[in-house]
Amino acid sequence: ELDVVEYRKNLAIRVSGVDVPKPIKAFADCGFSNVLMNAIAKQGYEKPTPIQCQALPIVLSGRDVIGIAKTGSGKTAAFILPMVVHIMDQPELKKEEGPIGMICAPTRELAHQIYLEAKKFAKPHGLRVAAVYGGMSKHEQFKELKAGSDIVVATPGRLIDLLKMKALTMLRATFLVLDEADRMFDLGFEPQIRAIVGQVRPDRQTLLFSATMPRKVERLAREGLTDPIRVTVGEVGM
Ligand code: ADP
Ligand code: MG
Repeated sequence: ELDVVEYRKNLAIRVSGVDVPKPIKAFADCGFSNVLMNAIAKQGYEKPTPIQCQALPIVLSGRDVIGIAKTGSGKTAAFILPMVVHIMDQPELKKEEGPIGMICAPTRELAHQIYLEAKKFAKPHGLRVAAVYGGMSKHEQFKELKAGSDIVVATPGRLIDLLKMKALTMLRATFLVLDEADRMFDLGFEPQIRAIVGQVRPDRQTLLFSATMPRKVERLAREGLTDPIRVTVGEVGM
């Protein structure tokens, strides 16, 4: 226990919440499949970053997480790897009922980056990743979603459009990630985010990542997450 306190302190990790799992020291501590371990090695990721050390075991345990760490700290893999595990754990992978993993990001550039990272870890397991954001043909995205997906990475506006067009359903979605939540609020996406959260079954696992935690984001986290654990790495602004 003292070990854990010391280890967190060395990595500038702070946690709050009940029954917080211990941070891991290596990817090998996560119980990942060989397929995932190979994909991690192929990325050149030798050891987990601090946010990954603490967030991975929490997310893998099924808990909701509020993750606060600066840009470039490796937050994407902290949610993609457990998302792939979660999907592979589903007893029946019915292909036609929409994504199991849903990721919302504020801009098309960010959504595209997450899409590229998601593919690296999802493809080796045969999972299908779709990207849905503005500036690309809505018709093409409609067709892609109709063909089936396991993970969707989306900007909120375009996702709402495609949900209205019935390009996908949220019936299967049980793992929701709100990435860069503060920027989504800055860009005025609060209504869209609330609409999306309201469409995903309440027994979902929800993760919220943000560089800062202004009051509005705090409120969304309180309403949309269940018994979350908060993980902060380094210094954080409000
Ligand atoms: P964030 O979302 O926190 O801004 P990213 O997930 O985009 O950060 O990761 C930033 C960079 O670090 C990316 O180039 C990513 O490939 C790399 N990265 C992530 N995890 C690791 C790791 N464990 N070891 C080395 N590089 C990593
Ligand atoms: Mg990020």
